[in-house]
Formats: sequence, C-alpha cells, structure tokens
Amino acid sequence: MAAPARKILLIDDDRMQFRLTQAHFKNFRRERYELDWAATYEEGLQKLLHGTHVACLLDYRLGERNGLQLIHEAVARGCRTPIVFLTAETAERVDIEAMNAGALDYLVKGEITPRMIERSLRYALKLGETLEALRRLATRDQLTGLLNRREFERILPDEEERARRFGHPLALVMFDIDHFKLVNDTHGHPAGDVVLREVARRVAAEVRTVDRVVRFGGEELVLILVQTDRPGALNVARRVCAMVARKPIGVGESVALHVTVSAGVGVFPDDADSGLALLNAADRALYAAKARGRNRAVAFTEL
Ligand code: GH3
Ligand code: MG
Ligand code: MG
Repeated sequence: MAAPARKILLIDDDRMQFRLTQAHFKNFRRERYELDWAATYEEGLQKLLHGTHVACLLDYRLGERNGLQLIHEAVARGCRTPIVFLTAETAERVDIEAMNAGALDYLVKGEITPRMIERSLRYALKLGETLEALRRLATRDQLTGLLNRREFERILPDEEERARRFGHPLALVMFDIDHFKLVNDTHGHPAGDVVLREVARRVAAEVRTVDRVVRFGGEELVLILVQTDRPGALNVARRVCAMVARKPIGVGESVALHVTVSAGVGVFPDDADSGLALLNAADRALYAAKARGRNRAVAFTEL
C-alpha cells in the first residue's frame, strides 16, 4: 500500500495562486504531496499550529497583516513546521527578514517552476528534520529524554515572569531517587540507568502536557507545574511517589527492584519571590522528606 500523501499547507489570500500551485504540484517529478489551502491569516495560523502539515508555503501579503508576522506568531506559539516563504517580487529585505524570522527558504512568485518548488520543499523538509534533531540534542537529556538542566534554566525565568504577570501560582517539585547509590553499587551502573529511565517515564506519565519534566542532576528530577497551587502540587508529588513505589522495576532477567523517590514542593509566590529562591525552597523541602523517612512528599511550609 502506498504511504499517505504528505500534506503541504499553502497560506495565500489569492485563489489563483492556489490553482497555480496545485498545477505545479501535478508536475513534480519525484515527490507526491497533497496541497491544502488557507486563504486568511487566521485560518493559516490555526492550521499551521495544528501541526498536521509537513511543510508550509507562506505568502507575504495577507490582508491587513503579512506573512512575517505570521511566522513570528507561529514560532512563538511553538510551531516547528518548515516554512517556505513566497514573495511577490525580488524584495531582498523581505527575504532576509523571513529567513531571520524562521523561514527555511524563499521563492519569488513570478519565477516559480514546478522543479524549483519541488526542490525547495524537499530541502526545507530535510533541513527541518536536521534542526529538530539539533534542537533535541540541545534541550533533552540523552538517557531519559527529559528536558535538560540548560533548558530548565531557560524556561524557569519565563514561567516566573508569566506567573507574576498573570498572578498565577507556579510550583516546583524536586524528586530524588532514594538510596540510588545502593542500586548502582549492588546491581551495577547499567541497572541504575534502567531504573533512572523507568522512574523518569513514570514521573512524566503523571503530569499534564503543559507541565515540564526536567532531569536536573544525576538522579534528581524537577517538575515545573504551571498555574498550580500548593495542594495541587502536593497532590501530584504524592501521586508520583505512589506510582514509582507501586510496581518493582525489572533490571534484568530475574531482578526486580523496589524503588522509591522523595519529593520537595515549593510554590511561587508563597514560598519564594523568585525562580531561584523557589528552586531552593523545593530543595530544602526535599531534604526534609529524606530526613523524615523518604518515599514521601513534603511542602516547604511544612518545614
Ligand atoms: P538518598 O536517598 O539520600 O538520595 O541516597 P542516594 O544514594 O540516592 O544519594 P546520592 O546522591 O549519594 O547518590 C546518587 C547516586 O546517583 C550517585 C551517582 O553515582 C548516581 N548517578 C548519578 N547519575 C547517574 C546515572 O546517570 N546513572 C546511574 N546509573 N547512576 C547515576
Ligand atoms: Mg538519591
Ligand atoms: Mg541525589
């Protein structure tokens, strides 16, 4: 069975351009794509953010607004779809601005041929894949796939700022695996890695998609819980502790380890007046959870 055609989104307020592009698509030599069309800025943005298109052809002129604004808005809202920019004439400045905004290539409308557009799409798709792989390498921890410490340090000030502006609470939960050294010492470092990966998976499974899960250090994980108050955060922390402890983790043919984690909870702005102070509050609460017997969650207010 043939693979389903990959969908390309054209955002252009001119129906003629859609027809023309459709005709070009029929003349492609190697690739088969399905062309989808959005005639307005709003419709285009919505479809783009939906994320079901493998690439986007974007016109500069879009009614009151333009394609550059659309790229900026889409990227700010998390869009990763490769974009090829279409300009009406050889306006060099617009081309450069589009590339700076995040477009991967551009085409001059009057000069487009089927081969050119086919080449451009193939190139944008390939470059998009490469960029995605690089982004992953830069932001994720290799062992667990969770966000890395660097990404945490980028995100936390943003979330702090947002919480401040909108008057929402922001919670951090810091987890640390209990007696993890013993796992390494008894069963070996590879077994420790298996445990770490499985604990990370269980923690990530317990949170909403808007929350972020970070590998903060060796066997320390941090949750960033947006718009979450103390009872909410404690609830998540306790649920995670229970989920980790519930089922032993298999680390070999016949070895299953009973693993637990401890958690410390801090909430902005009640417990701390900055992101850094919040991290410190969660860390101190975690320390108390360890001291009080491990396999439990403690809030900063309970110290
Ligand atoms: P506690 O309950 O007080 O947290 O005891 P612990 O043994 O977990 O505490 P400690 O912080 O002393 O031990 C953490 C261990 O985690 C030490 C380190 O070797 C191990 N570790 C850190 N990163 C990794 C990793 O990527 N893989 C493995 N297998 N072990 C790691
Ligand atoms: Mg530990
Ligand atoms: Mg530790």
